[in-house]
Amino acid sequence: MACGWVVCSVATSSTSIPSTAELLLRADWERPRSKQTALGMSDLGGCRRRAGYQYNGYPPEKPSGSVQAVIGTSVHDTADTALRMMRDRGLLPANSVINEEVRFGGLIGHPDLYVDGVLRDIKTIGYDAQLANYKLKGPPRRHLWQVMTYAAALIVTERPVHTVQLDYLVRDSGNSWLWEAPFDYMAVREAMVWLDLIRQTPLEYLARDFAPDSAQCRHCPFFGACWDGHVLDRDERSAILVEDQDAVGWAKRLEDARARLKSAKEDEALAKGVLDALRPNDTGKGEVKLDGYEKVLRWTVSERKNLDAEAVRADYARGGSNPPVTTGSSVKLELLAPRDDGLQHLDEGGRAVLGADEDVAALRQLVLDVGVELDGAVDRVGAAVPGEFRGEQHGCVRAGDQVDCEAYQFLTGRERLVPGAAGERRVQRHAFII
Ligand code: SF4
Repeated sequence: MACGWVVCSVATSSTSIPSTAELLLRADWERPRSKQTALGMSDLGGCRRRAGYQYNGYPPEKPSGSVQAVIGTSVHDTADTALRMMRDRGLLPANSVINEEVRFGGLIGHPDLYVDGVLRDIKTIGYDAQLANYKLKGPPRRHLWQVMTYAAALIVTERPVHTVQLDYLVRDSGNSWLWEAPFDYMAVREAMVWLDLIRQTPLEYLARDFAPDSAQCRHCPFFGACWDGHVLDRDERSAILVEDQDAVGWAKRLEDARARLKSAKEDEALAKGVLDALRPNDTGKGEVKLDGYEKVLRWTVSERKNLDAEAVRADYARGGSNPPVTTGSSVKLELLAPRDDGLQHLDEGGRAVLGADEDVAALRQLVLDVGVELDGAVDRVGAAVPGEFRGEQHGCVRAGDQVDCEAYQFLTGRERLVPGAAGERRVQRHAFII
C-alpha cells in the first residue's frame, strides 16, 4: 500500500500499528533539524517560492520529508557515527570537523566532514540513471552551491579548503561516485546573488519552480499556501492567472510553446532517422560510441503487442457483458481561428478596446459604401470602432470623453448588424441591413 504522511497503518484487534513508512516519517518530524524553519544552505538553488516562505517565516503545514529523505538521513547518521569512531581511535585528526554547524551569508549548514583542507558532503540519490547523469554533466547546481557555501563558511573561520568533495551513494544499487574539485568562489557568488533575490523579492512575485504534481511540490511543507486561491475544481496552476490576469499573454505562451514543441519533434524525428544508418541491431539492444561525442547511442528494438480491442469486445458480447473499463478525464485546450458566432472577444473587464483611427475611418467608409440605414445616428455609428473586422465586432462609441463599448455581430451580405454580448455595458443602439 502506498502511503504519504497521511496515516497508513495496520489495524489489529487491540491496537493500530503504524506502517514502517509512517514510523520513519513520524520519527523524522521529531528531529530538531526537521523543525528548522529558517533558510539553510541546503535550500540554495531549490524552489524560489519555497525559499521565500522559509525566509518570511511561514510555519510549515506538514513535515517536508519523504521516506527516501529519511533513508538518506539514516545514511548520514551512520556515516557520522563511523567518522566519529575513526576520530576517537586516532584514525582521523583530532581537529576534524564532523557534521558541525557552520554559518555564512546568514545561512546555517552542516557539512559532513572537513579534514586537512578537504571538505566532503555525502549525497544519497535514488537511481543509477541519476548517477550516470551526474557523471556526464557534473553535480547539479544546488549541490555545488551548498557544498561551496559550506567551504566558504569554513574559510572565513580560518579553516582553509583546497578540495571540495561530493560523495554520491545510490540508494537502490549501493553504487557510489566521488566528485571533487577545488574551491570555487564564483559558485558561492552565484548562490549569494540567488539568495539576495529571494530576500529582496516580495513573496507573491517569487516563481513557483515546480509543478503541483511534482515530487518537490507533493513533499513541500508550503503546498497549501503556494497554490491557495486557484480556481475551484481546476488545475492548481490556475492560481497564477488569478494573480496576474494576463490571459492573452498565457495564450500566446501556449501557442509559442506548441510551435517549439512541434519543431523539436520534427528535428528529433529527422535526427533519429538519419542516425538509424548506424543502428547495429534488428532486435534487442545495440550500442554505438562515436568519436568526439561523449554519450553512447543505444537502440532498443522491441516487438509491440497491442490488445485487440474489437476481439475482446466480441468475446465479452458473446458472454452477454461488456469489458471492464476504467474512467478518467482529460482536458484539451485548442487554439482556433475565430468563428462568426458564439465567441467572446474580451479585454480585461469584458469590453472591446478602442481601435486605431484607421479602423474608425475604415468603418465609416464601409458604412457609407454599403448605404447602411443609420437610425439617424450617423456620427455616433461612424465613430464606432471595431475590435476586428470579423464576424463579431466590438464597437466603442465615443461621446466627448465618454466611451461606451458594445458588441455587434457584423455580418456581410444582406444580413443585419445586431448587438452582441460585450459584458455588462451592452447597449442595443443600432440594428440595420447592409
Ligand atoms: S508547492 Fe511547489 S512550487 Fe510551491 S513552494 Fe512548494 S515546491 Fe515550490
